[in-house]
Amino acid sequence: MAIGVKVLKRPVGQTSYLRATLKGMALTLSHLFRPKVTMQYPEERSSKDWTIAPRWRGTHRMLTDEQGRAKCVACGLCPQICPANCIKLVPGEDEQGNRYPLIYEIDEFRCIFCGYCQEVCPEEAIHVGVHYENSEYSRDRFVYDLERLCAQTHPVSSLWDPSDPKGE
Ligand code: SF4
Ligand code: SF4
Repeated sequence: MAIGVKVLKRPVGQTSYLRATLKGMALTLSHLFRPKVTMQYPEERSSKDWTIAPRWRGTHRMLTDEQGRAKCVACGLCPQICPANCIKLVPGEDEQGNRYPLIYEIDEFRCIFCGYCQEVCPEEAIHVGVHYENSEYSRDRFVYDLERLCAQTHPVSSLWDPSDPKGE
């Protein structure tokens, strides 16, 4: 296919940019009368229009069973798959041979919120959550232990579904 070439002639003599300037200003002014699409954070956070995508991956949450115990069975898959190496797991075992986490910690500061831990968990215990307001004053406060992970109450993130790639 032949390539079309458009040759532009340089303006000769004096050129006025007034028309282009006025056109630009008219465009800017027209935006003053259009409906606003930006929202003020955090003032408008509680309004009904402020929503986070259900697949947003934020602060982790550990789900618990009816007795309030963490659903984690200390299988070791999530620390194994975590690309940021930010999950610390020390497994334990009770008299009946049931495994449980003696220590389970996630460093939210190192986490890249890929969601692999949620995807790989066979017990659907650990989840990334629809939550993001987790700033702290010190770095060690970003290490969430099991108790703190279990105490989270925000909604958990929906996993990516290949049959519904846009999450609709
Ligand atoms: S979301 Fe990704 S980086 Fe964060 S803890 Fe889970 S596997 Fe690791
Ligand atoms: S993958 Fe699930 S069950 Fe296995 S150690 Fe992680 S949280 Fe526990």
